[in-house]
Amino acid sequence: MVPQGESQFGQIIRSIDAGYLTGPDTSGLETLSKEEALSNLRELEKKGLCHTIWTFITPFIGGICNCDRSDCVAMRTTVTMDFPVMFRAEYVAEVNPDLCNGCRQCMRVCQFGAMGYGIAHEKVVIDPRRCYGCGICRASCTKNAIALNDRSKVPLAANLW
Ligand code: SF4
Ligand code: SF4
Repeated sequence: MVPQGESQFGQIIRSIDAGYLTGPDTSGLETLSKEEALSNLRELEKKGLCHTIWTFITPFIGGICNCDRSDCVAMRTTVTMDFPVMFRAEYVAEVNPDLCNGCRQCMRVCQFGAMGYGIAHEKVVIDPRRCYGCGICRASCTKNAIALNDRSKVPLAANLW
């Protein structure tokens, strides 16, 4: 019930979920150091799992997820239904053909269908229009043949989010 005479500002303040003021109940959660968290992320990368950041109400970060397309509804919706529900990263991946040996390991982990294999020159190529800049391909390449470039400097992808 709205108290009589309450200002609009007061009504807005009262309507805010108290959880935003005090923070969530984290008593049941495990706390990781920065180094432990990064180490976990690196291990997950080796398994080909893609890191995504989820904001439950922007700009509040609700979690960092590590997933692949078989389990992630958002990735499936974005890639297989061509209905984007995720933003891309600020990067676009590029293969250095001089270092690539054509092993195709990177293609196995790309969740966004951005990579193709050129039979003629036996190298992998990346379509910048499909790349989400997640960097999982780079983590999987033992030849260090994949770089992440600044999206704003890649004309084909600069305005794709
Ligand atoms: S993993 Fe590296 S070396 Fe292998 S195909 Fe991909 S870019 Fe080339
Ligand atoms: S950075 Fe681009 S090409 Fe590499 S795995 Fe992610 S979406 Fe695929």
